[in-house]
Amino acid sequence: MQEYNYKMTFKTAAKAHALKEAPKESCGIVVDDIYYPCNNISDTPKENFAIHPKDFLKARSKGTLQYIVHSHPEGQEPSQPDIDACKAIKIKWYIYLNTKDKWSIINP
Ligand SMILES: [Zn+2]
Repeated sequence: MQEYNYKMTFKTAAKAHALKEAPKESCGIVVDDIYYPCNNISDTPKENFAIHPKDFLKARSKGTLQYIVHSHPEGQEPSQPDIDACKAIKIKWYIYLNTKDKWSIINP
């Protein structure tokens, strides 16, 4: 995991991570209002994300898991698999749309 200034809001930190990872999708989780960047271990990281389980568990252990975050470098809206996965996990998702510089939120 990279170093981040944890005083930043989770959105600022997650956006910085998204811009750094592009053209790959970035991913991370928010625990107690802090963004924890995770490695994307998807085989197709430009179109999908898979949070490294070790990164997930390490960040998850810091407190209460609030949100799952990832980026869409091309700015596309949430995919059906995104929506389905969000509903399955029952946790709110934040997706940063790089090219639009905006957030798309999925509620489970
Ligand atoms: Zn997505």
